[in-house]
Amino acid sequence: MRPLSSRLVSALVAAAALAVAISLVLAVRLPEGSVGAALNRFRLDSGPAVPIALLTGAAVAMISQLARLRVRVGGGLARLAWGEAAIVVLCASLAPVLVAPVALIGFGAAHAALQLFDRNTPRARPARETLYGVAALTVGAGLAALVVGLARGPESDDGLPPRLIGALCAAAVVYHLATVALVTVRVVATGGGTPRTVGGSMLGSTMLMLVGNVAAGLVIVWACATSGFLLLLLPPVLWLMHQFYANRIGEDDERRTWSEFAEVARDLNRLDERDAAHAGIAGAVRLFGVPAARVVLAGGRTYGELPPGPHTSRPLAVGPVAVGELHLAGPEPQRARDRLMLATFGDALAAALHDAITHDQLRAMSERTTYDAVRDPLSGLFNRAALLARGNLRLSACRAGDPVALLLLDVNDFKEVNNALGHNAGDEVLRVIARRVLEAGPDGDLHARLGGDEFAILITDLAAGGADLALAAAVERARKLGAQIAAPMRVGGVALSTETSIGVVVAAAGSADLTELLRRADIAMYQAKHGGQPVAWYDASRDDANTDRLALLAELREALAAAPGEDQLTLELQPAIALTGPAGASGTGGPITGVEALIRWQHPRRGKLAPDQFLPAVEASELMAPLTHWVLERAITFASTWRRAGLAVPVAVNISARSLAERQLPETIGDLLSRHRLPAELLVLEITETVMLSSSPVIDDVLVRVRRLGVQLAVDDFGTGFSAFTVLTRVPVQEVKIDREFVAQMLDAPKPGAIVQATVDLGRRLGLRVVAEGVENPEQRARLTELGCTAAQGFLFYPPLSPDGLLAVLRERRQVQRRHLRAKGAV
Ligand code: C2E
Ligand code: CA
Ligand code: CA
Repeated sequence: MRPLSSRLVSALVAAAALAVAISLVLAVRLPEGSVGAALNRFRLDSGPAVPIALLTGAAVAMISQLARLRVRVGGGLARLAWGEAAIVVLCASLAPVLVAPVALIGFGAAHAALQLFDRNTPRARPARETLYGVAALTVGAGLAALVVGLARGPESDDGLPPRLIGALCAAAVVYHLATVALVTVRVVATGGGTPRTVGGSMLGSTMLMLVGNVAAGLVIVWACATSGFLLLLLPPVLWLMHQFYANRIGEDDERRTWSEFAEVARDLNRLDERDAAHAGIAGAVRLFGVPAARVVLAGGRTYGELPPGPHTSRPLAVGPVAVGELHLAGPEPQRARDRLMLATFGDALAAALHDAITHDQLRAMSERTTYDAVRDPLSGLFNRAALLARGNLRLSACRAGDPVALLLLDVNDFKEVNNALGHNAGDEVLRVIARRVLEAGPDGDLHARLGGDEFAILITDLAAGGADLALAAAVERARKLGAQIAAPMRVGGVALSTETSIGVVVAAAGSADLTELLRRADIAMYQAKHGGQPVAWYDASRDDANTDRLALLAELREALAAAPGEDQLTLELQPAIALTGPAGASGTGGPITGVEALIRWQHPRRGKLAPDQFLPAVEASELMAPLTHWVLERAITFASTWRRAGLAVPVAVNISARSLAERQLPETIGDLLSRHRLPAELLVLEITETVMLSSSPVIDDVLVRVRRLGVQLAVDDFGTGFSAFTVLTRVPVQEVKIDREFVAQMLDAPKPGAIVQATVDLGRRLGLRVVAEGVENPEQRARLTELGCTAAQGFLFYPPLSPDGLLAVLRERRQVQRRHLRAKGAV
């Protein structure tokens, strides 16, 4: 609370002095004897002399102030006394002009005495405040005298005329209002509240006292006017009244104090230690009316400051846990109530501080754990998991279609740094690179260390303006980054420079998630590394599904299990056309010697996949057997349907090495054939030359048993195995398929041409059908016919067809053949 300003005190003292001076001037100028007459209304039998009347008045004023009560109003204290009673007595017994001077003497004497008595107690108050108080009372008395002087009417002898009573009441009320107003000014001026709250609360708690005081004053005046003995009854009555007031005020005070306490205690509940400590300081100042307070925590942290001088301290603890100490400026509180309140307040503050400190610690701990969970400890950059999580969030925050880029950086020959300089130096190199990665990109980018010597940067604010521009910008960023990282650094006293390989991928936001971007960036990064380039970018055409074999296999398993009607896997069928004979020689219309079943995968996400895009992965997995079984079943079903429709044509199924190594393959095939009632010779198994050459007893055994069933065997891709002819003597095959590479080159280069020719010759000698694959133009067909090749397969005749497409072709062909046969018969 602020001290009372001396300007305010001087102003009020001047006002009081003025009131007294005016009164004295007026008194001197009164007509002779009127002072005595005025005093005469004290009808004490002895008929007091003027000085006695004045002394009595001053004594009454003094006594009224000694029996005082203290009331807390807002942030300050007010002292209430019997002032109104004294004013009533003074106004009734003295000429108005004497009231202010006599009151000044009485009040002044009383307060001087109190100042003296209270000197070394907590009740002591600054002289300035006492001066202000006395001046306020004097001004009030002056105003009251003015009211009485104007309102009391002519002098009369019959005791207390009603008009005089009215005037005295009015004077007491004016005195009361004036003093309350002046005390309010003091409390407000020292920062104890607003005029409204302070004045209102004072008027509220003193209303009863005003009424009692005025009544007491009137009774005294009446007793003096009638019988002096009645005055003897006054002391006990006044004492009772005083006790009653004290109780009332005490109750009010208590209620206000505890409600204030509750407010302050509520305010202590802060989540932050500093806030809680400052709330505690403000609360202590408010509750205990001290000028300052300080909180010293057990950890040594201190909040608030104390002025020099005595102070009270109170330990703060929660159970056995010491939290700190609360220090209040000024001496120990005297009243038991204040001491109790200090203890309670201390407990509340200790609990609040303890909570806030615990909360701070928990928060710090959880911040640390989240930091540890998302940061790579070595570099401080995000880790892989955080890059994925935050990156995906970033991507979903982008406008769909906006270009985003991911740069994946791998340090070249990092192992050598580790080997040559040790792991500590290696870590330091990584830290330097991390710093350079961070410095190279704007704040909006996401920087991560994926582990080892791999770093990634996700860029989501690439300037828009087309995919090519975005890619160019991202590649430029990657080049700059590579150059920055390559700048020489000193680690462990050695100057070194590190080269990096950076893979760049640019995609439209919404088209790929971060896992996919990382996969693509990885492909690009490997291209950079293997090509010896610092930067390479992802090119979809160089990517193939093999890069994520595992996902692919899982998806294939689902595709194989798909319910009928929801097939993702299908077969296309490509016919082979006879080249020998008149029809073959003349046009495209030779008879169909067989159809080859070729698998297709209509992938829900990746689109239509060719066998080369997934078979290599399948072949290395356990899924090859179920897949082969699926193809065999479909192909055999088709062939038996065609046969029943009178369109019997052999169906060829490609069998991979892995399937041939399955001992039960012959039984499986035998079952399928008998189940679909397909003659075994209508099934051809195409087996690549390289597989047939493998000297595996299992494969040999399987081939022999399959052959025993009556199933035909064809050597696929013949010529690619480089040991071509031995295979034909080892395995009993019925057909040889010349690889399309040789067919494609046979007209232009002598070697492939020679191989084709030799194969056809050998086939003819061994009694095997020779089928040329990949025949795309009439020249090839003509040459093959000329050489005596049995049949041909290729786009020149038919591409692989859907089952329905093939059925249509078979029907049409049959008619052509019939016409042909009829024509033949007619010749
Ligand atoms: P392949 O046995 O040599 O099959 C012939 C391939 O040549 C087919 O490719 C076919 O579409 C393609 N082709 C046909 N005519 C022409 C032409 O005129 N010019 C050119 N350049 N190509 C032509 P596709 O269907 O992509 O099959 C590739 C390979 O996948 C096959 O080679 C075969 O080894 C394997 N394959 C296909 N289906 C199956 C299957 O069901 N099981 C197994 N194990 N392998 C299969
Ligand atoms: Ca084939
Ligand atoms: Ca082939």
